[in-house]
Amino acid sequence: MSTFPAVFVSHGAPLLAIDDGAAHRFMRGYGDALGRPRAIVVASAHWTTVEPAVCAVVQPKTIHDFGGFPRALYQLAYPAPGEPALAQRVAQLLAAAKIDCALDERWGLDHGAWVPLMLMYPAADIPVLQIALQPQFGPHHHFELGRALAPLREDGVLILGSGGVTHNLGELAAPGAAPMAWASDFSDWIHDTINAGDNDALLDYRRLAPQAARNHPTEEHLLPLFVAAGAGARGRRVHTSTTYGSLMMDAYVFD
Ligand code: ZN
Repeated sequence: MSTFPAVFVSHGAPLLAIDDGAAHRFMRGYGDALGRPRAIVVASAHWTTVEPAVCAVVQPKTIHDFGGFPRALYQLAYPAPGEPALAQRVAQLLAAAKIDCALDERWGLDHGAWVPLMLMYPAADIPVLQIALQPQFGPHHHFELGRALAPLREDGVLILGSGGVTHNLGELAAPGAAPMAWASDFSDWIHDTINAGDNDALLDYRRLAPQAARNHPTEEHLLPLFVAAGAGARGRRVHTSTTYGSLMMDAYVFD
């Protein structure tokens, strides 16, 4: 089996699951473009823990971790199987990188995981499990998590980071609004830095990128990008679009 690339997607608002738009259409086609992985490990912005953890359940539940959205969203389910044996392998790989990792039996699939997966792999027949983020440990830690997971790619496992290239929910405009300059400038900087293969600068984005704190008042939506970058080698952008004026929906593949 050939080495599977690592991927980062921006998941925007939960409505991405049902509302047609550029990012929705991109994700609906991107599963076919990537091909079928043997299994999927997702690092979602919506599962954060104090210490590293990997979900080791046989059948992950679909978690509707949002409020105030249309009823149709709460009826969606993504019944893909889990794979406890793969969760154990994840924990072993992290242990080999001197990162202790707990086997979790309570999580499932939050919307950062199941919304993109429902579009990319709608049959929900590929084993999937989540690995948690630790925002208090910052970008380097998440790059190391990704690096530790990289050997899984050789077994046909997709490492999928799901967050947002920009994520300031306090500065949203109308759904179809033109991109705000402070958001698109940040997205351009991420693009240029990944294109240059400059991981040192990427991990130092908070100091180097324009308007970093405005685009990420908290960091958890960008951390999955570092997991994917750590798991892969050179990255390239495979999608860019904007929703609500300030949410850049960029996606990257690292192969
Ligand atoms: Zn989110």
